[in-house]
Amino acid sequence: MHQTVSNGAPKTFLDQVIAATPGQSHLEMCIQCGTCGGSCPSGPDMDSTPRNLFAMIRAGMKERVLRSNAPWFCVSCYYCMVRCPQDIHVTDVMYTLKRMSVKSKLYDESTAPDFSKTFIFWVENFGRSFELGLMSQHMIRHNPFGVFKIADMGVGMVTKGRISFTPKRIKGMDSLRAILDKAKEIEAEDDAKIMGGAG
Ligand code: SF4
Ligand code: SF4
Repeated sequence: MHQTVSNGAPKTFLDQVIAATPGQSHLEMCIQCGTCGGSCPSGPDMDSTPRNLFAMIRAGMKERVLRSNAPWFCVSCYYCMVRCPQDIHVTDVMYTLKRMSVKSKLYDESTAPDFSKTFIFWVENFGRSFELGLMSQHMIRHNPFGVFKIADMGVGMVTKGRISFTPKRIKGMDSLRAILDKAKEIEAEDDAKIMGGAG
């Protein structure tokens, strides 16, 4: 159970992260064993291991944590979660840190947050990712000359039927929109509760 101040908002950064993570993350139970970092396929690319991140969260080093590249290199393989002796939901916490990082606009080392937003745009409008649109939108915004480099590959994938040339909307889009709207509503309520959060 996390601590709160008098208005019910989480007291510390650790409490904020716990409150912003769905379900029971058990983050407060971390014993700093390092099994997660040792298991992580993205570890060599991360500027902090998950163990380090969790120590910094506990120490209230909010800005440093939200500037870390580690959550953006997490590929959601869940290997750390399977191996953690304390049943800490490492992957879920990584998603929480990504959301906090986007809201705080603190992570400016790469275009990953923008890529994530473009991906969400396609899911919200078509119910699935549209690889060609995702890549071309991202490249035009961040690396226009790079479009020519990947054009051949894109054409090859389209002609071989590996990716489609136009986006295809899923059936049941209205139902998905209702689910996404509800999720946004819950997120807004949670953000309001987590006063002093990353936003
Ligand atoms: S494996 Fe679990 S307990 Fe060990 S450092 Fe990672 S999160 Fe903490
Ligand atoms: S889920 Fe993320 S943090 Fe955990 S092992 Fe996989 S890449 Fe690393």
